Amino acid sequence: MSLPVKLEEDLSDLETMPMFYFPRYLSPFDPKSSPHHFFDVLIVGGGLAGLRAAIEIDPNLRVLVVTKDVARHSSSAWAQGGIAGVIHSEDCFENHVGDTLAAGCNLCERPIVEMVVREAPERIKELICWGTTFDEEAGELALGKEGGHSHHRIVHANGDATGAEIMRAMASWTDRLPHVTLWEDAFTIDFLTDREGCRGAVVARAERQIALVWAKQTILCTGGAGQLYRETSNPEVATGDGIAAAYRAGAALRDMEFMQFHPTMLYIAGSNRRLITEAVRGEGARLIDCRGERFMGDYDERMELAPRDVVSHAIELQMRKTRHPCVYLDMSHLDSGMIRSRFPGITRVCKKFDIDIAIDPIPVRPGAHYFIGGVSVDAEGQTSVPHLWAAGEVTASGLHGANRLASNSLLEGMVYGAHAGAAASRAAMAMADNFTAVPLSQTPTSMHEDQLDLADIRNSLKSLMWRNVGVRRSQSGLEEAAAMIDRWCRYVLPRQFVDVEGWELQNMLTVAYFMIDAALAREETRGVHQRIDFPDSNDQTWRQHIRYQRCGSEGYPQRSDSPLSV
Ligand SMILES: Cc1cc2nc3c(=O)[nH]c(=O)nc-3n(C[C@H](O)[C@H](O)[C@H](O)COP(=O)(O)OP(=O)(O)OC[C@H]3O[C@@H](n4cnc5c(N)ncnc54)[C@H](O)[C@@H]3O)c2cc1C
Repeated sequence: MSLPVKLEEDLSDLETMPMFYFPRYLSPFDPKSSPHHFFDVLIVGGGLAGLRAAIEIDPNLRVLVVTKDVARHSSSAWAQGGIAGVIHSEDCFENHVGDTLAAGCNLCERPIVEMVVREAPERIKELICWGTTFDEEAGELALGKEGGHSHHRIVHANGDATGAEIMRAMASWTDRLPHVTLWEDAFTIDFLTDREGCRGAVVARAERQIALVWAKQTILCTGGAGQLYRETSNPEVATGDGIAAAYRAGAALRDMEFMQFHPTMLYIAGSNRRLITEAVRGEGARLIDCRGERFMGDYDERMELAPRDVVSHAIELQMRKTRHPCVYLDMSHLDSGMIRSRFPGITRVCKKFDIDIAIDPIPVRPGAHYFIGGVSVDAEGQTSVPHLWAAGEVTASGLHGANRLASNSLLEGMVYGAHAGAAASRAAMAMADNFTAVPLSQTPTSMHEDQLDLADIRNSLKSLMWRNVGVRRSQSGLEEAAAMIDRWCRYVLPRQFVDVEGWELQNMLTVAYFMIDAALAREETRGVHQRIDFPDSNDQTWRQHIRYQRCGSEGYPQRSDSPLSV
């Protein structure tokens, strides 16, 4: 069965569309009884992209940053390996651009890659100015190397705890900005829109109190969607809320078929699926199977340092070949002192399970890690909805193409946070104050007496995505997933929920819907999108982005293909 997507040329018979629809707002709100708050700029998400954007806003403007959990829970804070930038005198921008384009498998937007790579040294300097302490060697920044990078160019902190250190510094810097207010535990349900564009957001605060936040400009920085998968490195907050809410508000989505799987996540029953950074392989760790055989040579001449999609795919095949649920990272041939001091976090976690990383093989398998697709933005972070900007993992910017090069995403958050912040700030400065709520139209959703077991549907969704929309995909698996999502959407999307669990599930189903539809449409293998029934890339037909936009009052998606800008 195929999904109810309308292709661009075929919009005439919307009435024949299926039973479920995408409501415009998940939860009804009553402007007469809800509290109203007025800000110049609203930033949804307090990870690296959100805080970088906040720093860029003119101090004469009032800024609100909202996070759905406590601010320290974000992918940014969990980042391990580091941030990429051309720092070493033997490296150059052309190398970093070339490596990013090669990883992206002919689907990167070259002007965007050039722009981001050239800004990297300046953005890294900013982080240092704002208090980040990166690791050094002989008084210079220590530079790591990761899969797909031709040179040492990964700046890191506390060995493998780069994100925690960057976010510590960024949080303490933004804390000192008197014009920036932070609301934690504030779940953004939807963006408020009228004919003019985005006007702010509907936010559920503590005790389910719904507030209407009006803003001249809104910046979306809600991160990724790894929680759609059973196996993931992502924190609990990564449920794709921002992507789904942006779609409901009319923003175009792009590249939804591209979920990057990290090849090496710790696989121990009882532990969370912690990521074992790529830098471990950069330092010389080998991948071995359950028989102790090093196998990457059978798949790629770059061995363990091949790009992530290649390594994930090889691990999946090797697990099948050996009928074993994982493979192993082996560092027993490396200097044990160096290993323990370079990777203190991983050493600590593995020790809890009686694994000494310098001696024992570490059990690993792939997991959903980074969502390449998302809200389509231009070089300034402008979405297709006026007054709505976006930055960071929530976006599809064209930087990563069909596969993200390691350590390019913290960089993307810094660059796009700065651009979106600057553009939103300029736009807000040019607008007059208007402290009134505007009339908005809402589509009805319905309250149901019967309770759904939301946890059950969520777990089933995560298993389905892992099984059928994971590292290796096929038409039959994707069609089976499409049929299930269709069924769940029919009875979950039109309902009115009153808490985060329900809204998250509605968002996860919405994002899954687009991921599967795009994965079915792209009948080729490219980067992280591996179709076993179409094992080759097809540049002639598929060197383009798949794009979705809401149309009609029921919010049916209109699918179109957009060519690369180069
Ligand atoms: C384990 C791990 C290791 C990684 N290592 C690296 C690395 O070494 N180098 C690298 O470049 N990249 C790495 N990445 C990827 C990188 O960390 C992320 O892509 C990047 O940090 C995303 O930043 P962000 O600001 O876009 O989103 P996040 O940092 O995820 O922040 C999202 C924010 O949005 C908020 N939010 C979400 N939904 C809502 C909602 N409905 N309402 C209100 N707020 C909401 C969250 O509360 C959070 O504050 C890693 C990722 C993980 C998970």
